[in-house]
Amino acid sequence: MNQTNQHRAHTLIREEILALTAYHVPDATGLVKLDAMENPYQWPEDMQTRWLERLRTAALNRYPDPHSQQLCERIRQSFNIDSRLEILLGNGSDEIIHLLINALAKPDAKVMSFDPGFVMYEYIARYNQLPYLKVPLNPDFHIDIKSTLQLIEQQQPALVFVAYPNNPTGNLFDAQQIEQIIQASEGLVVVDEAYTAFAKKSFVGKLLEYENLLVLRTLSKMGLAGLRLGYLIGTPEWITQIDKVRLPYNINVLTQLTAEFALEHKDALDHQTNQICGAREQMYRDLNAFESLIVYPSQANFILFKTAKHDANVVHKALLEQKVLIKNLSHA
Ligand code: PMP
Repeated sequence: MNQTNQHRAHTLIREEILALTAYHVPDATGLVKLDAMENPYQWPEDMQTRWLERLRTAALNRYPDPHSQQLCERIRQSFNIDSRLEILLGNGSDEIIHLLINALAKPDAKVMSFDPGFVMYEYIARYNQLPYLKVPLNPDFHIDIKSTLQLIEQQQPALVFVAYPNNPTGNLFDAQQIEQIIQASEGLVVVDEAYTAFAKKSFVGKLLEYENLLVLRTLSKMGLAGLRLGYLIGTPEWITQIDKVRLPYNINVLTQLTAEFALEHKDALDHQTNQICGAREQMYRDLNAFESLIVYPSQANFILFKTAKHDANVVHKALLEQKVLIKNLSHA
């Protein structure tokens, strides 16, 4: 029975799905969890109490506002978004990456980003049967602009993702080079600002200047990873179309209420972000004290290092034995 069922699944499921390895999230029970670029802090107790009071007002019997209008307005105010731009919300920015690729997945479309880069771009391109082009970064993890522009000219990808700062390297690419990429692309360029709170640099100010630019952001790195809320900012021409692929109630009632509440207390979130930036500098100095490590400067909430002398797997395992979980990129 099982074998027949497996055969049936293998016959019916698309080949590119069968070929994928599922995205693996390691179990962190009992470990100091440092592997997922999260904010480690809880909210102050009085803020938690007021949040729970707010949740009492949630109408769980009703479907959520499909356009999350109040929350969008709050996001607009909190992040000073121009009234000529629109906002689309996703169940995490991961969902928005899915929506973008899905909306642009014509048979000849290609998706492009950098290597090393954020893995979800490639995963989701593959789900949608689209070729994924990776441009290798320089040894210092900056953009090799010549080969990037060459590839854009030859392949004209429908969608280019630029993570700013980049994951997993933590650095900000050169802003002028990103503008060159936007100018050279006939396709859409999405600047993914998941870590903008730590870098304090943004392309939102360029959205009205470039017709083929969108900016993707998330509340995950501001202490709300468990909530799952991402947002896409762009001109109405793009947002209206991409919004058609979004399922109507993708942002549930509790997320809408909680995100609104959190942004009303943005000072508290910003305070934690600044704490993380301070801790990052300390961690950078501490890691640099190890002669055997090459530590890369970071503008995000994580630090990439290379184990120059030892096998990264051995270091990863030794830390695990000390109950510390970090991300091992040696196979990436
Ligand atoms: N973009 C980048 C560059 C990321 O690093 C992440 C999370 N690691 C995301 C998008 C997705 O974030 P979320 O789905 O939590 O909003």
